[in-house]
This record gives sequence, structure tokens and C-alpha cells, in this order.
Amino acid sequence: MPTAVHGELNVYESAEARFEIAAQKLGLEEGVYRYMKYPEREITVYIPVAMDSGRLEVFTGYRVLHSTVRGPGKGGIRFAPDVSLDEVRALAAWMTWKCAVVNIPFGGAKGGVICDPTKLSKAELERVTRRYTAALSDWFGPERDIPAPDIGTNEQTMAWVMDTYSMHVHQATTAVVTGKPLELGGSQGRKEATGRGLMICCNKAIEKLKMKRESCRVIIQGFGNVGSQAGLLMHAAGYKIIGAADIHGGLYNEKGIDIPKLYDWVYTQKKPLPEFPGGGEKTTAQEILFRPCDILMPAATENQITAQNAHRVDCRILCEGANGPTTSHADPIIEKKGIFIIPDILANAGGVTVSYFEWVQDRQGFFWRESEVNERLQDVMENSFDQVVRYAEAHSVNNRIAAYIMAIDRVARALKLRGFYA
Ligand code: NAD
Repeated sequence: MPTAVHGELNVYESAEARFEIAAQKLGLEEGVYRYMKYPEREITVYIPVAMDSGRLEVFTGYRVLHSTVRGPGKGGIRFAPDVSLDEVRALAAWMTWKCAVVNIPFGGAKGGVICDPTKLSKAELERVTRRYTAALSDWFGPERDIPAPDIGTNEQTMAWVMDTYSMHVHQATTAVVTGKPLELGGSQGRKEATGRGLMICCNKAIEKLKMKRESCRVIIQGFGNVGSQAGLLMHAAGYKIIGAADIHGGLYNEKGIDIPKLYDWVYTQKKPLPEFPGGGEKTTAQEILFRPCDILMPAATENQITAQNAHRVDCRILCEGANGPTTSHADPIIEKKGIFIIPDILANAGGVTVSYFEWVQDRQGFFWRESEVNERLQDVMENSFDQVVRYAEAHSVNNRIAAYIMAIDRVARALKLRGFYA
């Protein structure tokens, strides 16, 4: 467990702290500030599910709609034992800012169910998903709130959400979720999108800092959808991945890790990551963050870099694959060290960007080639990166605060144009 100062690990407080700084620097007027600070709606559902044993279990689920000012709510569904309303609230707000940073026409939402997906059978997971979706079917919808995968959920979960919703509205509605299988209206390139967006940001950052890709050492914490895809793409592009970790522990190898082989080890052979026979030193899942490298990519979960350990981070670029891996208390320490930060609401926005493309394709009923998806993603990520960095330099703020200011400003402008109803 990461060590931290009191209250530091409340992600909602972390998200709020950045919002406060950005809102103040932006000079956001009082009423607009209050409107944007709170979510539009929070829903708690208690989901009765018959377990395989015949026992009845009741799970708690949440959906928070933070903002629909710029478009329908958009945000993943997380299945994890430590899901809390505060966490879902923070993640929903981050989605609003993220969609605004990359300027796609969505608001922000997030959902979660308190459960341990590794301990549920496939049939139990399906029943949890379907009952959660049924409970929220009046709130979900392609024009209302569009879920996607997050920690503990995947393409199959999204297929069940799509099917359950479609049964309730009596028509096949593919655009109600993104991150679906290709056979059900998923998009080419969605699986790799978050990792690809991270790599595009790293490409831009090393170009800016005049670093060479071949000598660029990368450490990735988290080897799930985001971390493994970023690793595969960056390895193929010539970066040297010297560290990787998942929940079971880490592996460090100065000579570089063969990521395609590691991927095969973890996903085809289903073996524990630290046992990879390709060579390297075993570390804990957290220690990997403090090994020297050029790019550090926390792509696992929240609160990994805290006020207690930030001084140990030894990298040139911190590229946040996960949402909220750095606490607000750690921000000043990272800044003081002169680390170039690519904040989560920019760095991992490739996922929601291709989710947006998926939603567009579903609604058009016309699907794009993978090269077309990747090209459009590159345009969005590069433009957003340039805008954030330019804003940071022009206003002497760090990249994180620049991203928040840009996002809050875009939402505030939309809000003022719409006006306040009744
Ligand atoms: P995932 O469930 O596919 O993978 C999570 C990975 O992190 C796994 O390898 C797991 O073993 C590892 N992990 C979990 N806790 C850890 C710990 N304490 N230390 C080290 N490793 C740990 O999830 P994902 O979809 O890859 O999401 C990872 C992060 O990226 C989350 O913060 C998520 O919100 C964020 N994110 C995901 C997407 C997406 O498209 N999936 C998009 C944007 C942001």
C-alpha cells in the first residue's frame, strides 16, 4: 500500500484540489464555479444477484453523472472491491475535464460496482452486469450517458450492457456503450487506443525535450489494457522498456524487456508477470516506480505517487496512464524536481477519443479502417498536447494545471452559451 499523509488518498479531494487551483487561476465566477464543482446526479443501486451456489448476494453499484454541458455523459464502469462513491465521483469529474481537454463533445460520468471480478464466475459477472444495467437503463442511452470498460470490465462486459439495454428499449442500440467487440459495432483500434495515445504524448514530449527514442528507458506500472498496449506499441516503436509491473509484482531489466514475449507470458500462458523467464530483477509492484528511467508511466491505479514517496521518483517525463496515479499532495514535489508531466486527463485521453469515434461510427452505421482511426487519434492527441504545453508556457503553470484550466474554460464557455434553465 502506498504511504500518504492524512486524507491524501481520497481521490475526490485530489481531483477537487486541482479544480480549485485551476478555477482560481481562471478567475471563474462564483456561480459557475459552484455549478461545475458538483456532479449533476449520483445514483446508488443495490443489485440482488443469484450466485452459482444458489445464495443471494446484494452488490452495491454507483453511477455518477458529473456533467452533460458539452454532450452526453461518458465514462467507464469499474468492477473492484474498493470502489467507493468518492472514487466514482472523482473519476466522473476527470472524464468531464478529459473530454474537454481533447475537445470531444461529451460530458463526464463514471460507474462502479463493489465486487471482486477475479472471484466471480463468468455467469455471476454476467448477472451483476445485467442487473446493474437494468437498474440504470432509464439513465443510460446514446444521447444520455454512455459507459465503457475500466478496471475489472472488458469487451464482454460491454456486450452484456449493450444487450441488456437493447432488450429494455426494444431495439438494438450499439451506441449505448463503447469498447464493444468489433462484431457488435466496436471500433478498430479501440483496444490499443489508450496505449497509443500515451505513446503519441511521449513522442511529442521527447521531441520537445530533445531526447532520443532509442536511448529512452521506460518503466510501466500496470500491465492491463492500458499498460500492456502502451508497452507493446512503444517496444515496437523503439523505446527500451526496462521495467514492468502488475498487481503481483514488478520486473526490472536494464537491458530491456522483450514486451511481446512478456505479453504472451501473462496473457497466453497466464503466468505471473514477475516470474517471466526473460531475465530481470524482481521488485514489488510499487518499488518499480522509483527505479531510474527517462519515462515513468504509472498505468495501474490511483494514489501511487504520494507526498511520502514522490521524492524517490527518478525520471525525466511522468506520463500518467492511470487516472489519478499522482496525489495532489505529490504535485509540488514532482514539479520541484523539474519532471515534465503529461497529466492523466491528457495522457490517457486516447481511450475516450476512440470511444467517441466508435459512437460516431455506430450512429452513422459506417465503419472506418484502422489506419483512419489511428490517424484521427494522432491528430487529436498531438493538437491537444500542443495546446496544453503552449498554455502552460504562456501562463507559467505546470502542464496539469494548464490542462485543467483549458478544460474548465471550455465547459464554462459552453455553460454560459447554453444559459441557466429556469
Ligand atoms: P486493467 O484492469 O486492464 O489493468 C490494471 C493493471 O494494473 C493490471 O495489470 C493489474 O494487475 C495492475 N495493478 C492493479 N493494482 C496495482 C498495483 N497496486 N500495483 C501495480 N499494478 C497494479 O485496467 P486498465 O483498463 O488497464 O486501466 C488502468 C488505469 O487506466 C485505470 O486507472 C483506468 O481508470 C485508466 N484508464 C483506462 C482506460 C482504458 O481504456 N481502459 C482509459 C483511460 C484511463
